[in-house]
Amino acid sequence: DMKNINDDYFASYSSYGIHREMLSDKVRMDAYGQAILKNPSLLKSAIVMDVGCGTGILSLFAAQAGASRVIAVEASKKMASVATRIAKDNGLLWKSPVGSTTDGTGVIEVVQGMVEELDKSMVIQPHSVDVLLSEWMGYCLLYEAMLSSVLFARDKWLKPGGAILPDTATIFVAGFGKGATSLPFWENVYGFNMSCVGKELVDGAAKVPIVDVVEDHGLVTSAAILQTFDLVTMKPDEVDFTASVVLEPNCDGATSGSNDLKSETTWCYGIVLWFETGFTSRFCKEKPAVLSTSPYTPQTHWMQTILTFQEPIAVTSGKSWVDRSAAVGTEVCPAASIQLRISIARASQHRNIDISLETTGI
Ligand code: SAH
Repeated sequence: DMKNINDDYFASYSSYGIHREMLSDKVRMDAYGQAILKNPSLLKSAIVMDVGCGTGILSLFAAQAGASRVIAVEASKKMASVATRIAKDNGLLWKSPVGSTTDGTGVIEVVQGMVEELDKSMVIQPHSVDVLLSEWMGYCLLYEAMLSSVLFARDKWLKPGGAILPDTATIFVAGFGKGATSLPFWENVYGFNMSCVGKELVDGAAKVPIVDVVEDHGLVTSAAILQTFDLVTMKPDEVDFTASVVLEPNCDGATSGSNDLKSETTWCYGIVLWFETGFTSRFCKEKPAVLSTSPYTPQTHWMQTILTFQEPIAVTSGKSWVDRSAAVGTEVCPAASIQLRISIARASQHRNIDISLETTGI
């Protein structure tokens, strides 16, 4: 049931390991740090709400940036008390939870509870927040479905024209080749053929997406935008979507790893999904920032999300001739683009998502 699912979910955030992982993710921290600390005209004297404050790091940044009041909301009891303690120890706590006598002189107020139930604590009037902060992104952007909570907070607490950080989110997709899979590893283990293991892993990923690191050289198609969200204007039900994309073969990828094969086919084994969130100049006028989880940029703890096709698809049936004697290589890349339809929707198990992948043409 829903209550138990939420209990498990918030319990998972009570262990410090996951917070340490997030705080150690330099790409993540740099993007949020830049957006909050380098845009004084946005944060100075602002009333800020941090949705899901965890250790309170984004609230601490906001206090440092000159916010006049920071409401740090956290559902996990453990983390709400940890955030309170941290704000206090750094001289930034304004008010301890109800009943406490240890009010401080800072600007941060930690409220324990789900942001959806905040009005019960009556800490603030609706539509009076200047800046809504949150780090809500899950694997493949939408796993954990926390975006809905941010949109709820937007509609209830944000002032008309108020800022949301980040304010855009984009999901990207590209096709990957054999080199990005574990197939080559299992094909030759100290000279023994263990490819049955690799095949099982690849088949498994056709049913359940895998979160793993994909190196950019493993991609055999161009990258395409699957979906863009504008957090200011999107409706809550737009979190679930279906979109179509066309992936074009990437001729560079077709040659990588080729040797003297007379004719060569590049196979696409499946797709890689990743996301970027933008702190755009709409609100971050002095210093916009982007948080990217792309295979082309330094890795983050989100890595990438991989789904394999039932059967690999040939993207180039190109022949690459390498005539050793003449040392002449000629190449053609008769492209076969891949058309896909992808849906992402919140699953009946509230925190999960269902991803469906359909090839609609080759
Ligand atoms: N802002 C912190 C933590 C991000 S992790 C940081 O950037 O390091 C997301 C946090 O949001 C978790 O601690 C989780 O318990 C909390 N959370 C998720 N959904 C929430 C909700 N609906 N209301 C309040 N807190 C929520």
